Amino acid sequence: MTTVNGGISFWYAQTGIPVPREPLPADATADVCIVGGGYTGLWTAYYLKQAVPNLRITVLEQKFCGYGASGRNGGWLYNGIAGRDRYAALHGHEAAVALQQAMNRTVDEVVRVAGEEGIDADIHQGGVLEVAYSPAQLARLKAFHEAEAAFGEKDRVLLSARESAERIRVAGTVGGSWTPHGARIHPVKLLQGLASAVEALGVTIHESTPVTEIRPQRAVTPYGTVRATYVLRCTEGFTASVKGQKRTWLPMNSSMIATEPLPQQIWDGIGWEGRETLGDMAHAYMYAQRTADGRIALGGRGVPYRFGSRTDNDGRTQASTIEALREILVRFFPATAGVGIEHAWSGVLGVPRDWCASVELDRATGLGWAGGYVGSGVATANLAARTLRDLVQRDSGQGGDTELTGLPWVGHRVRRWEPEPFRWIGVQGLYAAYRGADRRELTGRTASTDPVARLADRISGRGH
Ligand SMILES: Cc1cc2nc3c(=O)[nH]c(=O)nc-3n(C[C@H](O)[C@H](O)[C@H](O)COP(=O)(O)OP(=O)(O)OC[C@H]3O[C@@H](n4cnc5c(N)ncnc54)[C@H](O)[C@@H]3O)c2cc1C
Repeated sequence: MTTVNGGISFWYAQTGIPVPREPLPADATADVCIVGGGYTGLWTAYYLKQAVPNLRITVLEQKFCGYGASGRNGGWLYNGIAGRDRYAALHGHEAAVALQQAMNRTVDEVVRVAGEEGIDADIHQGGVLEVAYSPAQLARLKAFHEAEAAFGEKDRVLLSARESAERIRVAGTVGGSWTPHGARIHPVKLLQGLASAVEALGVTIHESTPVTEIRPQRAVTPYGTVRATYVLRCTEGFTASVKGQKRTWLPMNSSMIATEPLPQQIWDGIGWEGRETLGDMAHAYMYAQRTADGRIALGGRGVPYRFGSRTDNDGRTQASTIEALREILVRFFPATAGVGIEHAWSGVLGVPRDWCASVELDRATGLGWAGGYVGSGVATANLAARTLRDLVQRDSGQGGDTELTGLPWVGHRVRRWEPEPFRWIGVQGLYAAYRGADRRELTGRTASTDPVARLADRISGRGH
């Protein structure tokens, strides 16, 4: 079988690449201009328009809605949020618990709206299973499990090797941790259903319209400028392409493969009846889902970062990355050794210098933004969007402080990334360190995390 490489993502091979909506025809005005048509931008448009039906909202998207990570991700709709532990350190434990609880509810909120809007996104609320397959991973899994419980996740379950394998038979499993706060989704079906719902509410979406510069009350494009009281930047991994934002969030690559549909006898061996989303405790971790049509879609870090914050080639992926992901697949499920890899693709996600997601509306300028989700943005984008709604309403005098505006990630700012070549050298070194640490942990017997990985965490500002 030849593997389709790129084509944005496998999910588009299923739905078809959409014909873009009309670009911005000329200068225009709006109350709110949203730059970027991914989950963050579209959810923000959705909630704002629902709250204030006569608000004039324009979404500007450089290609077509869902061109970015929202149309390429692993379909883990789950309650993880980048930076929670740091927010606990900065704002106290209770503030971080509130953030975590808001995330837990966000998973249900996305499922609720999808149901209400009639969006069929292959949603299956089977929770998240994280497995360990080395002593060091098991030690991290237990520590992770305890940390989650301490942040209020009392319904998380620690599983023995046998219990974990009863859910999904991952070769060599030594333990697992399962939480109910997760669902498997089809990313593009969710995205496209959301875009239709937003349009039906009366939001204007212009596609094939790149925004080259964002200024207070202005989004500048080659076809004209949109003037708006609020301009919200929802460009995540592509943020470096906007003038003046080159070092704001680092575009980190994540790559995926999708198998052909697996024959029933392989599924009988693997189990995975609960359709949990599946992850591991490696430093260069993997993530996977069992798709609605019986494939495995599996992702991990490929080439982590390209020099100069370059982003994308419609998802094209290096052959060595495809092979590395196939090896993980076969390592997890040896029976898939002869299974064809039908598709491979990549996308970019936004990584702030301190690896903390944030949301902000600057009262002085009316400029807002949300992102830096570091690979857990499917649910987080929804929480960010509801928060941007509340911030806009508060600022425009139509609302006051809310539970969401008080969460600790609101208004968080962090220093920018180093200029090149230090940015490139740093990220290459970081991931080489993680890959080496994973190898040593797999062959060693010690239960402690590899010291090089600990050091890499400290230098990068990344916490596990
Ligand atoms: C391969 C991969 C797998 C992932 N898996 C998961 C997962 O399983 N679970 C999870 O929680 N998270 C996952 N993520 C992360 C998650 O997909 C993202 O965090 C989330 O989709 C971000 O949504 P967004 O709307 O902020 O950004 P995006 O979806 O990237 O949307 C940004 C949009 O802005 C547009 N844009 C950019 N610049 C401009 C400009 N100058 N002018 C106009 N438009 C512009 C882009 O074309 C794009 O459509 C994954 C990411 C990748 C890449």
